[in-house]
Amino acid sequence: MLAAVSRKFVVRTYGCQMNEHDSERIAGLLEAEGMEPASDLESADVVVLNTCCIRENADNKLYGHLGALKALRERNPSLQVAVGGCLAQKDRELVRRRAGHVDVVFGTFNVGRVGELLRQASEHGPQVEILDSAPSDDLEAYPSALPPRKDLGHAEWVTIQVGCDNSCAFCIVPQVRGPEASRPFSQVVSEVRDLASRGVVEVTLLGQNVNSYGRDIALALRSGSDSASEVAFQAGESWASSGRRVRPLFADLLRAVGSVEGIRRVRFTSPHPKDLLPETIAAMAETEAVCEQLHLPLQSGSDRVLRAMRRGYTAERYLQRLGEARKAIGDLAVSTDIIVGFPGETEEDFEATLEVVAEAAFDGAFTFQFSPRPGTRAGEMQSEYIAPEVVAERFARLAVVVERSALAAHRRRIGKVEEVLVEGPARKDPTMVAARTRQQKLVLLDPAPGLVPGAFAKARITDAGAHHLRGELSGTPLHPKRRRLAVLN
Ligand code: SF4
Repeated sequence: MLAAVSRKFVVRTYGCQMNEHDSERIAGLLEAEGMEPASDLESADVVVLNTCCIRENADNKLYGHLGALKALRERNPSLQVAVGGCLAQKDRELVRRRAGHVDVVFGTFNVGRVGELLRQASEHGPQVEILDSAPSDDLEAYPSALPPRKDLGHAEWVTIQVGCDNSCAFCIVPQVRGPEASRPFSQVVSEVRDLASRGVVEVTLLGQNVNSYGRDIALALRSGSDSASEVAFQAGESWASSGRRVRPLFADLLRAVGSVEGIRRVRFTSPHPKDLLPETIAAMAETEAVCEQLHLPLQSGSDRVLRAMRRGYTAERYLQRLGEARKAIGDLAVSTDIIVGFPGETEEDFEATLEVVAEAAFDGAFTFQFSPRPGTRAGEMQSEYIAPEVVAERFARLAVVVERSALAAHRRRIGKVEEVLVEGPARKDPTMVAARTRQQKLVLLDPAPGLVPGAFAKARITDAGAHHLRGELSGTPLHPKRRRLAVLN
């Protein structure tokens, strides 16, 4: 048996927000097992590496870290090492073949089993457990449903959906996270109520394609494969018995979460442009708590490349939806993702991207140079790969266009008084205070009494760069609600 009370753990995360949220829940699970967070690797009894295979060189990074942990393990033979997440889901037994000192390998569908697997490993030796899909009625399929950490921030993530039904040519997510599964409506709302009762004021609804929330419920109904009770479970008992249509839309969820008392800001990520319904735009416009912020991944402005990427929309359709959202939602900030140098991208295709980016006038963009991911369709398009120097040159040209519109958007905010939510010391300059506007803009403020994490304040915007704003406090900050510790199950 593990001496659970005295054991200390470290969870290291590589990857996206979904992974970071998984890591929070892994930490919560280990705390529920009686363990405590360790301040560093040297003092840890358990190290969990939560991996990602979306980022470039993810496997090199993982196996590099595992190499370093081997030396630690030699100094501390009782140290347990666990590897979970997308790369573990993809590599499976390979993880232990390449790093024999790993005690536990677990996949994306059995995060909730990490504590039990560590126990089994200490009693019976190394454990590899990878499920290929989540049982449809298994609440543990959703990371948010697992025990939370003891200490909550003022802003928290809430998983509303796992998996993805799309097949974007550059993306490995559908293979490692499985098909889309929507978390029951009532379960999401009740988690948000619980968070609000503990002082959380902002929630970000998390899913691979949040706009299609509920679609799997409709598909299950149409296929006739699920019993009424299973569909009711998926939709959420209270929703299914309400007499409204059986499938809740993402718009319904936005309205419900936005009406939870105490929640002042609702965000979400990521929506797919092809599934941005008018109902979602209307819910954003009409629900006060839903922030005026939209992250809408464009990926390319060329219809030919979008087809090759299997994105399911054209540049014109994208701009049309963006226009509808901007028309309905005042002061909407829009950011995007763009991949430069997708296999076969011609100069003409790239110029089309520049034109769409200029027309869309984004507030900011995450731009990526294409790099192939093993196991994806794009990974097999070697004959169409673009020369690295061409990709780098296009990437630099794109940055100029993105920064131009970001700077212009930010300069338009100078002189405005914005409501900001304080995060804490700024990462790049801890002598300043970092706060966020409803549009998710980073505002740097001079420290002042009351500017503590979780406080709302008014800030007059005094200066703007492409990536942040400067502001000065206007009035007295509103103290954050006292947060209560979570009661662990
Ligand atoms: S929508 Fe496309 S990019 Fe997003 S997770 Fe699904 S397959 Fe990947």
